[in-house]
Amino acid sequence: MNFIKKTLFIILVLLVAGAGFYACTKPKFQRVAYSLPASDKKLSIKQIFSKTPAIVDFKVLKTGEVLVPRSGMLNEKRLPANHSIPKRLWVSVYAYLFKHQTKGWFMIDSGLDSSFQQKGNIKGWLAKKYIKQTKQAHQQNVKALLASEKTKLAKKGEQLTIQGIFFTHLHGDHTAGLPELPPSIPLFAGKGDKFHYYPFLYTSNHMDKVSRIQELDFNQGISLENFEKVLDIFGDQSLLAIATPGHSKGHLSYLLHTAQGNVLLTGDASHTRYGFEKGIEPGWTDNREQAQKSLQQLREFAKNHPKVKVIYGHEQ
Ligand SMILES: [Zn+2]
Repeated sequence: MNFIKKTLFIILVLLVAGAGFYACTKPKFQRVAYSLPASDKKLSIKQIFSKTPAIVDFKVLKTGEVLVPRSGMLNEKRLPANHSIPKRLWVSVYAYLFKHQTKGWFMIDSGLDSSFQQKGNIKGWLAKKYIKQTKQAHQQNVKALLASEKTKLAKKGEQLTIQGIFFTHLHGDHTAGLPELPPSIPLFAGKGDKFHYYPFLYTSNHMDKVSRIQELDFNQGISLENFEKVLDIFGDQSLLAIATPGHSKGHLSYLLHTAQGNVLLTGDASHTRYGFEKGIEPGWTDNREQAQKSLQQLREFAKNHPKVKVIYGHEQ
């Protein structure tokens, strides 16, 4: 009896200590609502695409590569028997940079910081389950790539100040650039999207300097063609956030009407071109049914608008 009591006591102490440790270490950023500007409630893609683009520049920054399991990128149960996709894949990690003619420069996702020249900044016993290895050339980290863009723009007498970063979602490979970016940059993500942080198991320094995230609430969204919920971020239809939940709860894809053409960023609603073309949702999902539905909506949109350039979460 005495032994049982002692054991229970030790378990209780460990639980309290664990909870205390978790409370002390977990990221403490605030979540506040993004106030959406007024917008036309009856949008049509035809109208949007015929407008003069307010996004005057768009660039894809490839900030490195990560080796990931096939089972995360694709639902293996739905792979055809004759596929030839290796068990592990090297995939790209992007940050996207764009310029709105009146609001300035913004990013979508943060790419990777320079720690990915070594092992990256995602730690813990489970980290290797997701990212097996990393690859990044010298000066390929997001800060260096932005600095090089800045130099190019300076020659044209233009400045580069990032006004905000819109996330597709808050998974580690999309927030990993934050530690080397100015903490004053406003951040935006889908409402309720989870930032994963579990002491010893899966940790990172991504949110260490972050004080708040502005959440995009799809209750204010409108339907657009086959998309159920779309938010007109700037109120001028230049940047649409599309609710594509499933891979994560608040996952967003983005449609940009730019001077270089229309671009659909699927985010991790489809990590790969293969998954998009074959209609196979990611292996890693919060909600498989939603992930399949979101992918179908994006595929249907792409099929109806073949001129729109589709960029997948980790492949161009
Ligand atoms: Zn990802």
